[in-house]
Amino acid sequence: MAIRKIVLQGDEILTKVCKPVTKFDQKLGDLLDDMKDTLRQANGAGLAAPQVGILRRVVVVASDEDDILELVNPEIIYTAGEQTGPEGCLSVPGKFGMVTRPNIVRVRAQDRFGEWFEAEGEELTARAFCHELEHLDGHLYVEHIDHFLTEEELMAYYRENGYEVEEEVPEK
Ligand code: ZN
Repeated sequence: MAIRKIVLQGDEILTKVCKPVTKFDQKLGDLLDDMKDTLRQANGAGLAAPQVGILRRVVVVASDEDDILELVNPEIIYTAGEQTGPEGCLSVPGKFGMVTRPNIVRVRAQDRFGEWFEAEGEELTARAFCHELEHLDGHLYVEHIDHFLTEEELMAYYRENGYEVEEEVPEK
């Protein structure tokens, strides 16, 4: 297992459409393990394979507790509700913008062995599902915003929503 280098905005790899995974082999397992280590080290909410330079449809998303979901060839099959809040990206470090997403998102995906399953997330996890799946099609959340939040706007959001000021919105 290893920490992989995170690709930053401006690298054209982040604009490419990723190919489906067809081989469920040790290489895929190693990629998933590395992506989980990289996500934990970055203290993020999610990470997509193109963010570590791999153009395959693979993402990891932090769910409740300390769990990290592995999603291979994921697709969104159901959404409900709406949430608007600050969103960040590990490939656009230190910046946030307000993005509206569904509040509940259900995905269908394969695990590292090729078995299909479904997973549902709310709030931050739902937001991460949307954000990470967009990475697989070469899109970044910045396409949804008209400006990056100023420090004051971010602090105002934290205050209004009862966050501790030290708490940070995790990046994806
Ligand atoms: Zn991102």
